[in-house]
Amino acid sequence: MRAFQLVGWRHPPELREVPVPEPGPGQVLVKVAGAGACHSDLHIMEAPGPPPGFTHLPFTLGHENAGWVQRLGPGVTGFAPGDPVIVYGSWGCGVCANCRQGRENYCQNLGGQGPGLGGGHDGGMAEYLLVPAPRYLIPLGTLDPRRAAPLSDAGLTSYHAVKRSLHLLGPGSTAVVIGAGGLGQMTIQILRALSAATTVVAVGTDAGKLETAKRMGADEALLSGDEAIARIKDLTAQQGAQLVLDMVGIDPTLRMAAQVARVLGHLTIVGLGGGALPVDFSSPPHECSVASPYWGTLPELMEVITLAQQEKIRMLVEHFPLERAGEAYQLLHDGKIQGRAVITP
Ligand code: NAD
Ligand code: ZN
Repeated sequence: MRAFQLVGWRHPPELREVPVPEPGPGQVLVKVAGAGACHSDLHIMEAPGPPPGFTHLPFTLGHENAGWVQRLGPGVTGFAPGDPVIVYGSWGCGVCANCRQGRENYCQNLGGQGPGLGGGHDGGMAEYLLVPAPRYLIPLGTLDPRRAAPLSDAGLTSYHAVKRSLHLLGPGSTAVVIGAGGLGQMTIQILRALSAATTVVAVGTDAGKLETAKRMGADEALLSGDEAIARIKDLTAQQGAQLVLDMVGIDPTLRMAAQVARVLGHLTIVGLGGGALPVDFSSPPHECSVASPYWGTLPELMEVITLAQQEKIRMLVEHFPLERAGEAYQLLHDGKIQGRAVITP
């Protein structure tokens, strides 16, 4: 089968011919319908050497996957060939305290953050994906796996980041989302679906994506910069927002996040842009908690799928065949993907 693989650090990925994996005992082979191209893959491709947990090359990219069950390994029950499924991608040990609660994104035996599939394991930018256990497969029901794939990271990561702060988002509250790309657009919709926040503000650098952000539920869509900071201060009677989510994570966005968050608020860093948050006694504001959540939990992915089935969230998807995966990543790099590029092997 064909697979889009990373073969070297700071080396463009290549479409290669590899064997179709055999599902062993307890494993499931999935026929891939869609594999999302996430900005995290660009960070991986641009890394000078292996990030923590990346043990070998080459590996197949793609950690946002959905498809159909192709073949069950010996001993697997509960699924049948042809079932449409989404794949939970943060694969842990399954037996530590965090994994037993579904928090495999924080597996204690993988140093708290496993690279998951499309990193330490072969991902879904291939015709087939080997999944180590059926617990990672969530039935999609009537959802189309070619469109649903990004729910497993852009959807799940955004959901997890919002859910932990819901207690702050009562009526009259404000949430700010910096970066209105794949994750940001999901975050805005999830804020609308889950919270009573009165004002949702999107901050971005691209006029088209800011328009999309408004269509997806943002009350205000602001170009990144000092004027956005002043506007958010005005909107919040100079107090700042209860929740600020930075989906970019570079120096300027982190500085902005600290300026628009409020005392006792939450500043949540989701973007892996490699920036640093300047911290002193009064910035971020007093008792504003800072968190850097990684991906989400298995039960949360079930909740995300429910929201999508209820049509409360939807991803703007552009499809690319496997042979155009490199082009899709280049467009993502250049900021030209309006929502999510999904590779359809
Ligand atoms: P994306 O490229 O689709 O979106 C990023 C958006 O940020 C773009 O729309 C861009 O216009 C905007 N942007 C760039 N500079 C900006 C600035 N100065 N101010 C405001 N907006 C700006 O990327 P994505 O796939 O949505 O991923 C977003 C980030 O989240 C990436 O860094 C990715 O690695 C990270 N990520 C983190 C996790 C996690 O578990 N924490 C999971 C998935 C992705
Ligand atoms: Zn574990």
